[in-house]
Amino acid sequence: MFSGLVKWARGKSPWVCHLNCGSCNGCDIEIVAALMPRFDLERFGVLLEGSPRHADVLLATGPVTRQIKDRVVRVYEQMAEPKFVVCVGTCGISGSPFYPGYNLLGGVDAAIPVDMYVPGCPARPDAIAYGVLKLLATLDPKAQELVDEIEATRDTTGLIYTPEEMQQQREDFEETG
Ligand code: SF4
Repeated sequence: MFSGLVKWARGKSPWVCHLNCGSCNGCDIEIVAALMPRFDLERFGVLLEGSPRHADVLLATGPVTRQIKDRVVRVYEQMAEPKFVVCVGTCGISGSPFYPGYNLLGGVDAAIPVDMYVPGCPARPDAIAYGVLKLLATLDPKAQELVDEIEATRDTTGLIYTPEEMQQQREDFEETG
């Protein structure tokens, strides 16, 4: 019962923590835009939180540098379950345009598991908001209603990718070069 209560509370008021793994700061600005009044993720109870210990969703930007890799893993491990990781931006997905670089390990998923990918250089704030909502929909039926409404009123193709979809994208890229 207690775990059900925690799940309900997290679905109602999810807190997000932002981590720059080595980005140019472009996507970090777009995360701020997603939280500000125009896109207003906060209206869904989403709150930006400084400590990963209190956060439910990690918004990770940029490729993972060798220097920050252990810190990324530590931040992820400090978050309590259930937790989600949203990889924001193309360089967090593939390392591009910085990869290959002597100081890079790869994308965010080279260090920690990713639950949702938001492509773009930079990623769009509405896509970031949509990606977060889509994950929250697994916890909260109200968020699912919102996602259904968004998907009924606009074309969301290519805005976000699940891990399975991203794997498929990578395999297709490998095949076609
Ligand atoms: S995806 Fe582009 S804008 Fe975003 S952090 Fe990477 S290089 Fe910067």
